[in-house]
Amino acid sequence: MQAQELDALLLGPGADLRYLTGYVALPLERLTLLVARADGRHTLVVPSLERPRAEDSGAGELVAIVDHGETDDPFALVARCLEGLSPSASLGVGDRLWSTFLLGLQASLPQASWRRASAVTRELRMRKAPHEIDALRRAAQAIDRVHEQVPALLRAGRTEAEVGRDVADRIIAEGHEAVNFVIVASGPNGASPHHETGNRRLADGDAVVVDIGGTLAGYCSDCTRNYVIGAAPAGYADVHAALEAAQRAACAAARPGVLAQDVDAAARDVLSDAGYGQHFIHRTGHGIGLEEHEEPYIVAGNDLPLEPGMAFSIEPGVYLPGRFGTRIEDIVVVNDDGAERLNVLDRAAVRV
Ligand code: ZN
Ligand code: ZN
Ligand code: ZN
Repeated sequence: MQAQELDALLLGPGADLRYLTGYVALPLERLTLLVARADGRHTLVVPSLERPRAEDSGAGELVAIVDHGETDDPFALVARCLEGLSPSASLGVGDRLWSTFLLGLQASLPQASWRRASAVTRELRMRKAPHEIDALRRAAQAIDRVHEQVPALLRAGRTEAEVGRDVADRIIAEGHEAVNFVIVASGPNGASPHHETGNRRLADGDAVVVDIGGTLAGYCSDCTRNYVIGAAPAGYADVHAALEAAQRAACAAARPGVLAQDVDAAARDVLSDAGYGQHFIHRTGHGIGLEEHEEPYIVAGNDLPLEPGMAFSIEPGVYLPGRFGTRIEDIVVVNDDGAERLNVLDRAAVRV
C-alpha cells in the first residue's frame, strides 16, 4: 500500500478478502468489508449475524472484527475504522465491490480519493506461494481423474446435459468442494467456446469439447480435452494436430522473463501458419487461483514479464462454425527455468 501510495484497502466478499484473512464471506446485501490500513490497523466489518462465521474463519487472529446490527449505519462504522487518516485519504476499493456499497462509502467519505485495490492485491495474488501451487496441483490432479472417466460417459444418443450431470457428480467425487462449470459441447456446438451444455443428443461422428473445473481447498481447476464419437469429422485430425502443436509451443514458451503476450503469440503463430489463425477467436489463457479467471491474462498487448509462481491456463482453440470446435487446456505454473504443466493427461483427442 505504501508503494502504491494508498492509505487503506476496502475489500468486500470475494477472493481478495479470502486471500488476506481466510474468511469466505457471503455476498450479502448487508455490508461485509475489510478495512486494511497501510499503518497496520486492520478491521473486518461484518453484519452482526455473520460474526460467528467470521470468527470461525480465524480472521480475528489477523484483524479486529467489528459488527453492525440491522438498523446501524455500516458506512459510518467504516468511517470510524478510518479515523486518524486524512479526510482526503487515498483508498483502494475492491474491484468487485458492488456499486451499492461503493456509492454508500463515497457518500460517507466525500473527500477521499478512490482507486482499484487490485493495484495491491493483483501483485500479491499473481505470484503463488508454495502452498497455493500445491493446492492448484491437487485440483489439477482431481480434474485429470475426472477426464479419465469422461470416455465412459460419452455415448451416441445421450444428451450433453445428461453427460454434464454425470461429469459434475464426478468433479465432486474426485475431491472438489464445488463444481464451477461443466461445458460439454458436441458436434457444431463445439464451435462456441463457452457453449451452454444443452439438450443436443450426441451422435456418431461428433467431436466433443469437454471443459470442466471445480474448486478444491479454495483453489480452482480448469482443464479441456477433446473426444470423438466414432469416426472424426472431415478435417478434424489436421485441426487437432495443429492445435496440439500450438498448445505445446505456448507451454514451451512460458518461462521467467518472457512476456505474457509472447506466450499468446507462440500459440497463435502455429495456428496461423497452419491456416487456422482466424478461427482462434480468444486469448490463449487466464491466470487461475482462488478465482477461475484472474491475473495474469495471456493475451496480445499484455507486456507483463512472467515470474516464478505465476499460474495460468494455456488453452488455444480452433472453432469452425457449423462444423466442430476443439480446445486443449492445461494449467501451468512458471518455475525457475520454464513452466510445469499441472494437467498431465495426454492431449490427443480420445476416440470413444
Ligand atoms: Zn473460458
Ligand atoms: Zn476451461
Ligand atoms: Zn480456462
